[in-house]
Amino acid sequence: MSWFKVPAVPLIVIGTSALGGAAYRFTKPSDSSEGSLNPHTFTPYTLVDKQPVSSTSAIFTLRNSNGVPEPDSVKEVWKRSLWSVQIKQPQLQIARAYTPLPPVKDGRRKGEDEPRDMRLLIRQEEGGEVSTYLHRLPEKSTIELRGPNIECELPHDIKEVIFLAGGTGIAPAMQVAQALGRRTGSAMHILWANRRREECSGGVSDETEGLTAMKNRMGWWKSFIGFNEPADQKPLEDDHNGTKGILVRELDALKERSQAHTRGLRVQYYVDDEKTFIQPHDVTKRMNRSQETGSKLIIVSGPDGFIEYWAGKKLWVNGREVQGPLGGQLGNMNLGEWKVLKL
Ligand SMILES: Cc1cc2nc3c(=O)[nH]c(=O)nc-3n(C[C@H](O)[C@H](O)[C@H](O)COP(=O)(O)OP(=O)(O)OC[C@H]3O[C@@H](n4cnc5c(N)ncnc54)[C@H](O)[C@@H]3O)c2cc1C
Repeated sequence: MSWFKVPAVPLIVIGTSALGGAAYRFTKPSDSSEGSLNPHTFTPYTLVDKQPVSSTSAIFTLRNSNGVPEPDSVKEVWKRSLWSVQIKQPQLQIARAYTPLPPVKDGRRKGEDEPRDMRLLIRQEEGGEVSTYLHRLPEKSTIELRGPNIECELPHDIKEVIFLAGGTGIAPAMQVAQALGRRTGSAMHILWANRRREECSGGVSDETEGLTAMKNRMGWWKSFIGFNEPADQKPLEDDHNGTKGILVRELDALKERSQAHTRGLRVQYYVDDEKTFIQPHDVTKRMNRSQETGSKLIIVSGPDGFIEYWAGKKLWVNGREVQGPLGGQLGNMNLGEWKVLKL
């Protein structure tokens, strides 16, 4: 298997937690002379927009305060890596990792040297130090970042990905979707689980859409023969554009972009409150459809409990987080040539 975990930034991180936190110390003055994002020093960004996604999460748009374009290292990581940046909480001297969302295509083609905004999906954790601090910041505040930190690289011959995402675990899924969108013949399935519908409002699963189409086709004759729906059948979600949440719209855009070169991106939505949960057969069904040769990956990303349930615990060895043995639901399944990555 050719994907590999890249070591954490050396020397600077002196302590990490299972929640991805890091205490920090300075090795250079905070204002790097280059003024662009780098893994060694914190670079100031300005919070230019905070767009609510739900009652607990928002997309933060950050702009390099020095007006410096993103460095080549960032252009490179977008092509083949899963990566994060660290944000500093200045009073407590702690930092946490966050996963940049793919840039949005806004019609205007940005020049190579124009600064691009960084967008982060951040959930406010109850009692969480850094996420609460960030959610309280008003627009125009300065936020300091360092990175990129590569979490892993996608294999060069990657052909298929099944991505199990829980909550904000959708951010790395979107990074993979945009990287795979450049790889001819690749295919990706995202199975995205949320506690509440508000996180993915208007999201209609691709396979439900198939059902919707069937239901619509049935419409003319079912009224004719007096076909009755089962009383407990849930209404199909409204897929009207106006009701779609921002992340759902961005996933739709990624799907559209992937159409040109790939065998497609498909998204399934699951909501705890609606009693829809990802089931092992949702994974096996998609594994069995695969006919391509090349690397095949199942990636699991989300809260610790979600990762543990699907793939078993990650472990800490000599101060570093490692994959640990495959456990959970995936550990009980016959995965054949599919490899599993816990994020
Ligand atoms: C590579 C990576 C990428 C990530 N990407 C994202 C992302 O894109 N978006 C995102 O929202 N998050 C992301 N995270 C998670 C993020 O880094 C933080 O862990 C998260 O925001 C919580 O940090 P916090 O400082 O707010 O919470 P913390 O202060 O670390 O607390 C976290 C939770 O633990 C509880 N807690 C804290 N201390 C104790 C204690 N002593 N006893 C009991 N409970 C306690 C808190 O109440 C809270 O609920 C990522 C993590 C990693 C490792």
